[in-house]
Amino acid sequence: MFSMQNFEHTYTDDSVIRVDSLDVPQGGKLLVSGPSGSGKTTFLHVLCGILRPTSGRILVRDQDIYALPESARDRFRGRTIGIVLQQFNLLPALTVIQNLMVAQYAAGLEKDPARTDALLTSLDIQGHRDTFPNQLSYGQKQRVAIARALVNNPALLLADEPTSGLDDENASRAVDLLIEQSERRNVTLVIASHDDRVRPRIPDTYEL
Ligand code: ADP
Ligand code: MG
Repeated sequence: MFSMQNFEHTYTDDSVIRVDSLDVPQGGKLLVSGPSGSGKTTFLHVLCGILRPTSGRILVRDQDIYALPESARDRFRGRTIGIVLQQFNLLPALTVIQNLMVAQYAAGLEKDPARTDALLTSLDIQGHRDTFPNQLSYGQKQRVAIARALVNNPALLLADEPTSGLDDENASRAVDLLIEQSERRNVTLVIASHDDRVRPRIPDTYEL
């Protein structure tokens, strides 16, 4: 679950985002919508603890994340929040399985081969566990990014524009995958998207 109270973020003089009050329960789903430049990516960056908002409180699993010192916040994020960025940011020098293991290591968690293998299997990319990212298709890279986001058993899964540049069939598949994985694991899902194809799939929308 997460909660935002009196949250505002401003880059320069103009207010980019304002959220008076927003609560999403554990396992809930939220679509953050709005035209390009409305602040969707900023919203996700604030929610995952990498961008301190100008004002307001952000609680993730009852933890006020910006009350934590930076290193504790990084550790909290690694263990509690999974993020699928638009460009995926997979490490090109590492194989699929190594990309997942690095996420465990960075969060200070023990290697858990049973978990990484089970995730790759459930996302249907087990056959590519020793492949390098640049040898994968776009859809396969997206699956690896989702697997990596889920590897530390997060409470919250964030995805930025997960359907951008995909045709209807693949866009639908990408959203299916995020919903299926979050429902199976009781993860709270937040998708930031201006794509009208996502809207019918996630009824709760926060409009920026
Ligand atoms: P969206 O994801 O909805 O397209 P963004 O959150 O990326 O919107 O951006 C919201 C607004 O904030 C835009 O006007 C953008 O130009 C501005 N912005 C985004 N990131 C920065 C930044 N790092 N510094 C200054 N302005 C920024
Ligand atoms: Mg964006």
